[in-house]
Amino acid sequence: MEKQNERMRVGEGRISGAISIFLGSLSLLGILCFKFPEQLTTPDFREVYTADMVEKLMYGVIIATFLFALVSMLLSKSRKKAVIGIILGALTIVMGGFNVQGGPVEKVSWSIGLDWLLLDLFIMALLFVPIELAFPKNKLQSKFHNEWKTDLIYFGISHLAIQFFGVITKKPAVAFFGWMNLESVHEWVSGLPFLVELFLALLVTDIFQYWAHRIFHSHHYLWRFHSVHHSTQNMDWLAGSRTHFIDIFFTRSMSYIPLYVLGFSSLTFNAYIVFIAVHAVLIHANTSINFGFLKYIFTTPQYHHWHHCEEPEHYGKNFAVVFPFIDKIFGTYHLPGNKWPKGTGLVDASFPKGFGRQLVFPFKKNPFNNDLLPEEKSER
Ligand SMILES: [Zn+2]
Ligand SMILES: [Zn+2]
Repeated sequence: MEKQNERMRVGEGRISGAISIFLGSLSLLGILCFKFPEQLTTPDFREVYTADMVEKLMYGVIIATFLFALVSMLLSKSRKKAVIGIILGALTIVMGGFNVQGGPVEKVSWSIGLDWLLLDLFIMALLFVPIELAFPKNKLQSKFHNEWKTDLIYFGISHLAIQFFGVITKKPAVAFFGWMNLESVHEWVSGLPFLVELFLALLVTDIFQYWAHRIFHSHHYLWRFHSVHHSTQNMDWLAGSRTHFIDIFFTRSMSYIPLYVLGFSSLTFNAYIVFIAVHAVLIHANTSINFGFLKYIFTTPQYHHWHHCEEPEHYGKNFAVVFPFIDKIFGTYHLPGNKWPKGTGLVDASFPKGFGRQLVFPFKKNPFNNDLLPEEKSER
């Protein structure tokens, strides 16, 4: 087990300093969204928020940057974090942070999802950092462990490229099923009660996702790509973002096929996206929250941490992302009472670290030296 970075304790001023730097960075990058909305904001996501909402949020985040810097200044012996927070906040104001104006945006063919990245990062941090602090699974794990920067890069790139992934993951569904006349199916599905429709969307996508995921675990060449997702030893709210782009493309394309064929209403589709976005972060989070009996209906952190288990005898279990009963049906269910895996990650200590190396790793000649699947290694 690698040495964990030292944990921050309440009252030292380091947590408030880190929050100040985090908020200062968000607001400074947020300015760019207001200055270049055509290139740096997402057409679909712009429909979710209003100009008024993001203007007010900007003011609030700038003020909070200074407040947390002040708290850090008062509590901490080292003023470094507070000073960085103040500089970031000051730069945001100089660049017009208190005079931002959101207005109508011209449509351009391609844009980068910086608005989606900043808002989702803000919301997920606000939701999951307190949960991980209050109900941690691994109490000794620092928020700033040795893998967080790599995982943040994955989070950043997958969000910035949202439009690109959105377009390419729809292509296979259209190519294979676009010729069918699906109008009567769409009419029937979108006429179902909302909760039934949402359950159906989650169920059919999870069955497709299950098999895509299982194929990634059972095929030598595909495992190279999916092993990247399993390489993180420090499970937390950012860890799930660590996914190779080939893995994202294949798994999302497969999950999109039933959505395309069945044609869910936009309300259901949006609810599905929100559920999946929050739930995917939750199941990787460093939290022992297990939702009582609900853990038998929906997958929980404990359930998915077993999928990431480091011990070879438990490999190849819990492929479902939403419904554990899918694993039950196909014989891959593993949830031993309240027990958690001892460790998560890959036994292979030589696995490359860092985004760039992991990006090229699967394309290398014989990257694992023997190209055996983890299950095959455990049988030796
Ligand atoms: Zn997996
Ligand atoms: Zn995972």
